[in-house]
Amino acid sequence: MGGEKIEREHFIILGGGIAGLTAAYELLRRGQRVTVIEKGAAVGGLARTFVRDGFRFDLGGHRFHSNNPAVVDWLEDLLGDDLLTVPRTSRIKLNGRFVNYPLTFPDAFTAFPPGQAAGMGASYFLARFAPRQRPERSFEDWVVRRFGRQMYRRFFQPYTEKVWGISGSQLSAEWAAQRIGLPSMWQTIRHALRPDDMPPATAVTQFYYPRYGFGMIPQALARQILARDGRILTQAAPRRITPTADGFRLLLDNGDSLYSDELIATIPLPALLDALPPENGRAPAFSLNYRGLICLFLALDRPQVTPDNWTYFPDPALIFGRTHEPKNWSPHMVPDNNCTSLCVEIFASPHEPVWQWPEERIAAKAIEQLSNLGWIRPREVCGQWLLRLPHAYPIYDLGYQTRLREVHAYLSQWPRLHLLGRTGS
Ligand SMILES: Cc1cc2nc3c(=O)[nH]c(=O)nc-3n(C[C@H](O)[C@H](O)[C@H](O)COP(=O)(O)OP(=O)(O)OC[C@H]3O[C@@H](n4cnc5c(N)ncnc54)[C@H](O)[C@@H]3O)c2cc1C
Repeated sequence: MGGEKIEREHFIILGGGIAGLTAAYELLRRGQRVTVIEKGAAVGGLARTFVRDGFRFDLGGHRFHSNNPAVVDWLEDLLGDDLLTVPRTSRIKLNGRFVNYPLTFPDAFTAFPPGQAAGMGASYFLARFAPRQRPERSFEDWVVRRFGRQMYRRFFQPYTEKVWGISGSQLSAEWAAQRIGLPSMWQTIRHALRPDDMPPATAVTQFYYPRYGFGMIPQALARQILARDGRILTQAAPRRITPTADGFRLLLDNGDSLYSDELIATIPLPALLDALPPENGRAPAFSLNYRGLICLFLALDRPQVTPDNWTYFPDPALIFGRTHEPKNWSPHMVPDNNCTSLCVEIFASPHEPVWQWPEERIAAKAIEQLSNLGWIRPREVCGQWLLRLPHAYPIYDLGYQTRLREVHAYLSQWPRLHLLGRTGS
């Protein structure tokens, strides 16, 4: 069991994604001792940048935006000149046309035939000024209340259901309110009239992006952690976590034991619950479903495909839901200016047939559909790689808040255990 290897650490952080690394860096800056335990071969989690043949791809394009100047200063300190400011250009394909996304006026209405646009306008006013009938439980309730049913059906529903793989009536309204950041029509109009006001997060016209990909952020954090004598153990995961009188004892998969005074967990909650002892009270059965993502990365022998950062495709007939062109985020994402690349995002979960398809079949279908759009010619594809991410998005379905509260109540028996991050809290 490696008794001689036992060490005493002040903070142990489970998970070397951006949440765990940021916590480690900040604790080290405050003089604490830190060990990060990361299951994967490299740190970064979902915020990694993947490099093949000189082409750099995020696992789905990641932009950085914050309305908090202190947070932006923090990132500028970390990356210095490598932090670029990028104009935002995103479009969505609606009714056969590409229009700016998020919708702006008058695009929002010109994207639809006049009869449909008038119906959407009428349904918007009806929704806004009709007396509130019932509480907003679902994403569908939340959007219909703010935008009207016609706008929901024609615009929000197709893309949302493609991304999440479940009906909008099954997604939580709390999630919509907290996470979706949809600007209300009033906010959008106000921002159009008074552009100097702080825009809603979804309506920003520019964002920050690291010169060589979003993965520069976790890489820079890891360098800072090691320079401050922090430890990062990769290919390591906790098999058993035992609370002690003054902290925790961790038994790792490789048989090593570590002690900590404080434990910060950023790993998925089910993995944390599995490692905690059953004798401290039964953990509530906790299920949070995840939406998977297949990223198909294409290297292309042409200078550019689109002017966009992201392009959105609600059409259910298309295998992909979103694409991004890394060169439009930073010119350093490609090995030479005569070529470009696309990351094609296919929203799917492991139980769906497309998840099981071999890589060649997924790539052939996506390339055929991109070619039908007139975006690329199949012979321009000079490299292709595919990654499947089974836990890309936690699905905030109806009832997840109640289940989460039960888990938080159970875990609160250990005041030295702190939860953090996308799937860890
Ligand atoms: C397609 C896509 C696009 C996105 N775009 C943006 C964007 O534009 N801007 C933005 O701010 N955010 C974006 N996000 C969200 C962002 O990626 C996440 O919020 C962020 O990376 C989460 O960081 P984290 O550290 O909480 O989790 P993760 O990145 O999931 O890190 C958790 C880490 O824990 C490790 N781990 C798991 N289990 C164990 C275990 N048992 N033991 C030890 N380690 C374990 C994992 O390997 C991983 O490294 C996007 C996400 C996706 C999927």
